[in-house]
This record gives sequence, structure tokens and C-alpha cells, in this order.
Amino acid sequence: MNKQSIYGLTIDQLANWLTEHGKKKSRAQQVWEYLYRKRVTDFSEMTEVNQACVQLLADNFTLQTLQEHIKQESADGTIKFLFKLQDGNLIETVLMRQKYGLSVCVTTQVGCNIGCSFCASGLLAKSRDLSSGEIVEQIMNVQLHLDKKGQGETVSHVVVMGIGEPFDNFENLLDFIKVIKDDKGLAIAARRITVSTSGLADKLIEFTDKGLQVNLAVSLHAPNNELRTRIMKINRAIPIEKLMKAMEYYVDKTNRRITIEYILLRDVNDHKQEAEELAELLRPLGQKVYVNLIPYNPVDEHSQYQRSEQEAVLSFYDTLKKGGVNCKIRQEHGTDIDAACGQLRSKQIKKTEAK
Ligand code: SAH
Ligand code: SF4
Repeated sequence: MNKQSIYGLTIDQLANWLTEHGKKKSRAQQVWEYLYRKRVTDFSEMTEVNQACVQLLADNFTLQTLQEHIKQESADGTIKFLFKLQDGNLIETVLMRQKYGLSVCVTTQVGCNIGCSFCASGLLAKSRDLSSGEIVEQIMNVQLHLDKKGQGETVSHVVVMGIGEPFDNFENLLDFIKVIKDDKGLAIAARRITVSTSGLADKLIEFTDKGLQVNLAVSLHAPNNELRTRIMKINRAIPIEKLMKAMEYYVDKTNRRITIEYILLRDVNDHKQEAEELAELLRPLGQKVYVNLIPYNPVDEHSQYQRSEQEAVLSFYDTLKKGGVNCKIRQEHGTDIDAACGQLRSKQIKKTEAK
């Protein structure tokens, strides 16, 4: 049987595991020091930890469930990693250089069941959820890549926007967040972590109640049910009214701002009328929303969708601004290396299948 990744345990879970196995609780902190500060790649490097304890951990856990399969570097410094999991499945992780720091985009599931009509990830149904350890390890692998370069760079921001619907892998998502934001570990501040959802309203309410202080992004992509259902079939089960209620709950309870993601699809959702409708729809949320207008990354299998003309993008932006909505046009990263969510993976799988 495959061993579990040690990175999947929060520090409390590790401490409890150690006490259950007759070891001192305090060893957990020592082990974490090696994992997240010294960033060792093998248990044998934990030289200052009691050796019987290290052996016990090595017998039960692993530090590497991910294997680097492909790494593509873009001219703008974006790096896309394709990792192979222990069961042979492939997942993607992206490192982006931003003005404010180094941001990593992580995957939460192998495939995605939400099946949005424009998305490369949704082409392949979900085969399983990632464990919390597999999600943390994506960050660790990127950090180890940076460590090897020896320039003292660290991952400063995390976006949960890779393959999968994070709220459909809720418990593992929560453990992942707990691990990466823990002061004794990577200490990535909650306000530097963003979770993006396609709008699972009930989970959004549960998430709100957890009081995690991380940022929330909601993929809306259309201002009315008819259009949104056409683009995102999840809207049939969870219509806009329900999603709006959940977002209002989030804003009331946390007093935090929500980012609304809106991909501009040529002649589909990019008319002035949709911009006006969107401004109207978001009015109840006032200054508590912020719209991110996203240029579409074309996907071969979804040839019905193209990127909006620049003129339409600017006019959409102006209309939203005039409607009193905060918004910006998202800057792109790594378009020369299939950086759109799920693209590298689906291309790689197609290649393997064609062989
Ligand atoms: N499942 C979650 C998170 C992963 S997708 C969600 O849907 O929010 C992250 C973001 O990438 C979403 O806003 C999604 O709509 C967007 N996206 C997916 N495919 C894209 C593409 N081809 N071009 C641009 N953005 C895309
Ligand atoms: Fe899944 Fe998000 Fe892609 Fe939709 S956009 S199919 S929810 S990953």
C-alpha cells in the first residue's frame, strides 16, 4: 500500500499521531521545522530528532508522493509543472512571478465534475480528489525548485485555481489551508491565499462559517441564469439567486471583499447589455465585490469560444465602472506554455492516448 504524505497532516494531527504511537507530542514541532524551514527531502536528514521517532515516521509516511514529469518555463518567468501522482495520474501546478511576489496555483482534484463548457479541466471527469498532502506537496515542490536556485526566493501567495473544484474536496482543502498558513510551517498569511469556486453555494456558507480569513473568488462568467446555464451547467442546480444569497452571507459575516471572475467570451457574454446586467446584479454587494475580467485562453476542444476583441473588453470594463463596480482586466501569464487551467494536462493525456 502507498504511504500517506506527511505534508497532509496539520501540526496538531501530527502531534496526536505521535502521542498515539507512544512518542512525545513536542516532536511534532521539531519535525515541522525540518519539513518546512530546513525543507529536507528525506527523513534521514532529520538528524536532531530522536532516531526511533524518525524511523517510525519513515515507516508510516512519505515525503514524496509527487514526481516531476514535465516542467515548462515561459519567457515571462511563469513555470508550469506537470506532476505524476503515486497512482500515475497527472496534475498541474503553476508558479507565476507577480509584482507583489511569487504566486503558486494549485490543483485540488484529478479532473473536474463541474464540466464548464469552456474549460480544459472539465474535459476529463473527476477520477479522484487529491489528498491534503498532495496539495501541500505541490507548494513544497515549487519551493524546493526555488531553494535549488539559491536566490532565497519563497512562495508568497497561493491561489487555489488549478484543476478541480476546491469546494468539492472540502475537508482536504481546509487541512491544506491550515498547513500552509501555520506560523510554524510555511507561514503564508491567510490574506495571501485565494480560493476560487464555481459557486457551490452551500459549501460557500460552510466555508464562511470556518472564519479562515482567506480570499474568496467566485467564477460567475454570466449575469443571468439563461446564459450562465449555457456556459456552466452547474447553474441549473445552483442558480444565480442562490449563489448571490451565499455571497451576501459571506460579505455580511466576514466583511471581506469577493473577487468575481468573469471570462470574456467573444459574442457570448461580452456585450454592453451583459455588462449593464452584471453591474445591476452585483449592486446589493456594493463595494464588497471586485470583478476580474479574464481574457479567454482558447481550448482546442471548445472551438465555439474565442477571446473577446480588445474593443469589447474595454467597453465592458467602462460599462462596469460607470455602473459603480470595481473591476480590472487580468494580466496574463505564460500563454506560450499552455498556462490555462488544465491545458497542459489534457494535451499530455491526449498524446499518451494517441500512442
Ligand atoms: N473550479 C474552480 C477553480 C479552478 S478554475 C473555479 O471554477 O472557480 C479557475 C479559474 O480559471 C476559473 O475562474 C475558471 O473559470 C478559469 N478558467 C478555466 N478555463 C479557462 C480558460 N480556458 N481561459 C481562461 N480562464 C479559464
Ligand atoms: Fe471545473 Fe473550474 Fe474548470 Fe469549471 S472552470 S470545469 S469548475 S475547474
